Amino acid sequence: MVKNEIIDLRSDTVTLPTEEMLEAINQAKLGDDVFREDPTVNQLEEMAAKKLGKQSALLVTSGTQANLISLMSNTNHGEQVILEAQSHIYWYEVGGVSSIAGLLPKTVKSKKGAPNPEDIQTAISPKDIHFPKSSLICIENTHNRHGGTVITPQQIQNISKIAKSNNLKLYMDGARIFNAAVALEVDVKQLTQHVDNLMFCLSKSLSCPIGSIIIGSNKFISKARKLRKILGGGMRQAGIIAAPGIVALEKMIYRLKDDHNNAKYLAKQLSKIKGITINQKCIQTNIVMFNIKNFNITNERFISELEKANIFALILDKDMVRMVTHRGIEKEHIEKTINAIANISK
Ligand SMILES: *Cc1c(COP(=O)(O)O)cnc(C)c1O
Repeated sequence: MVKNEIIDLRSDTVTLPTEEMLEAINQAKLGDDVFREDPTVNQLEEMAAKKLGKQSALLVTSGTQANLISLMSNTNHGEQVILEAQSHIYWYEVGGVSSIAGLLPKTVKSKKGAPNPEDIQTAISPKDIHFPKSSLICIENTHNRHGGTVITPQQIQNISKIAKSNNLKLYMDGARIFNAAVALEVDVKQLTQHVDNLMFCLSKSLSCPIGSIIIGSNKFISKARKLRKILGGGMRQAGIIAAPGIVALEKMIYRLKDDHNNAKYLAKQLSKIKGITINQKCIQTNIVMFNIKNFNITNERFISELEKANIFALILDKDMVRMVTHRGIEKEHIEKTINAIANISK
């Protein structure tokens, strides 16, 4: 290991493409994807739809664009969307849900990311002239702000029953859906079968440089394709983005288990450091969140002390630090991180 190697635990988005991905980009057959003539994009979309058990798929620029397009494709302007209170759509997507999709968010609290079906039922507007029409329920799996927690197939099915009986659509922000599938040891289709549509990110723990994919019925995806165009996301020789995506779906999923094991190990070692509070049971995938309130230094100081050791982490909220494991983070990096934190506390 290089002595001054950077250990970047801020996010799994920092992963760089593998050699094989770069080679795939080099070899990719290309065409104009707005004309549906890029064979590599077509291949990736077909592959993704099949793997996730739906009719059709659409490659888009980012997770934020995928969510925005999906919100718009599932609803009409002025309707109400039910979101989990800590959801990425509500917190981190610049309010596009309202400013662009024209939706009124109604938030529902949860303990670890999966709202109770009864709470969702309560959030749905009654049919009354005063209320906006509720038309969509969104869930997030794994759940980012809850610390990478998973929602099980049974929980999704229970929420889908509420959606169906009230004639609402159910959408899943599955940015890290493969982390959920690997953690639960289920086929990803078990997580997708009870939602109408979903998205996942290629650009996070799957190591691709760019891109997310929306998955759903033929009808939903053709509407989404048009919305992607209006939002400026129609790309031309997008095969250079799709090529590493194919490598990711073929080869990058199984290794997520290593990231999860490293996250659990990190959490266990953190729990031994005086002043750090962490609930090890919440470490279900590759995200580790912990509280430094009893450490008696400011957030800024904690982060800058780590930076001196070339270790990067994120402050999530007051006193809450987030570290994410990913390809390139090995056990020795975790050890080094733990030592650096233990040294701050001295
Ligand atoms: C990262 C993330 C997104 C957005 O993806 P970007 O590619 O960063 O726009 C959406 N939802 C969740 C749960 C995420 O973690």
